This record gives sequence, C-alpha cells and structure tokens, in this order.
Amino acid sequence: MTKGKLFVISGPSGSGKSTVIREVFAKRDNLYFSVSATTREPRHGEVNGINYWFLDTQSFKKKIAEDGFLEYAQYVGNYYGTPVEPINEHIQLGEDVILDIEVQGALQIKEKVPDAVLIFVFPPSFAELERRLRGRKTENEKRILDRLETARKECEKADIYDYIVINDKVEQAAEEIMAIMSAEKCRTKNRICFIREV
Ligand code: 5GP
Repeated sequence: MTKGKLFVISGPSGSGKSTVIREVFAKRDNLYFSVSATTREPRHGEVNGINYWFLDTQSFKKKIAEDGFLEYAQYVGNYYGTPVEPINEHIQLGEDVILDIEVQGALQIKEKVPDAVLIFVFPPSFAELERRLRGRKTENEKRILDRLETARKECEKADIYDYIVINDKVEQAAEEIMAIMSAEKCRTKNRICFIREV
C-alpha cells in the first residue's frame, strides 16, 4: 500500500486557512486532520479533541519531555504542538495528513520530514487580513495587534514554503490546494513503483 503524504498548511491568523481546510475535507476523502495540542484557552464553541487538545502548561511540557510532539512552538504567548503518534499511524494507513500550523513549526517539519509539502495561505492583502481579524470578534485589541505583528513576521518566512495560495475566494483556494495535493501524489518518486510492477 502507498503511504500517505504530509501536507503542512500555514498562514497568518485571519488568512482563512481553517475555512479553506474545512472545504478541502468536505471535498476529498482519505484525509486526516491532525488535532494539535495547545495551552491557549478554548474559544466559544471549540471542543476538546476536535479543534484542539487543550492542555495546561505543565502537561504540555511533560509531553515535550516525552518526545510526544513532531513539532511544537510558542505563538502569541501560548504553546502549540503536533502529537506525533496519530500522524505516523495515518500515514502508514495510506491517508494524507494535513497539519494547520504556524511558521516555526513548519520549519521544524521541513527539517524532520523533507518529503512534506508546505503550503502558505494568504489573503489578497494586509488590509483584508486586518478586516477579517477584526470581523471575527474573538480577540481583544491587544491580541489583534499582536496577531497582525506576528502575521508580518510570518510573511517574511513565506519563501520556505513550496506553494503559496491566495485565499480570495474559499472554493478557489481549496481547489488550488487539492490540485497541489494531486500533483504531489503523481510525482515520479511516488508513482515509479507502479511502473516497475507492470
Ligand atoms: P489559533 O490560536 O488561532 O487557533 O492558532 C494560532 C496559530 O497556531 C495558527 O497559525 C495555527 O496554524 C497555529 N497552530 C495550531 N496548531 C499548531 C501546532 O500544532 N503547531 C504549531 N507550530 N502551530 C500550530
């Protein structure tokens, strides 16, 4: 059985990447979404084990010490990390795995899993990013400014990614991500085994 592939999707808060990822999941099978762990407080409507595993700092640090994360980072004052076990399990099962993580984490994945495909999602402009962040009404003014500042820094690192998707319209952005996924799976190194078997 062909193993699954790891796709890393990053983009600043407000880039709309979570909505785009949801759209991809609605349209494509054989995909697994990695549920991260975080020390940030749950937002209204977020459910433990579905949106995130919400941990206190002590438990998060314990999991770091046990090598339980494929990558982890601090982002706007909180820890975020990708639990390693489910990733390995689903890749072995032949499912593609999507990680929604920020730039420092993506850099760690690039080093640890050179085969992973990195995609950066960005809205059509910074003004639009600010409009979307304010429109969410989930963050206070200080946190919005922190997230905008972080977004500028993240964009400076966009050149480490394999692909950039501009999220103007969600359906279009999701189509582009699915096209990238399909193309990556057709790479000779992933398909040569079929040719050799005929
Ligand atoms: P939020 O607090 O808005 O849910 O997420 C803040 C940022 O943390 C987003 O850019 C999101 O992609 C990133 N993030 C979520 N989970 C992880 C993770 O496991 N590792 C890393 N490095 N970043 C994550």
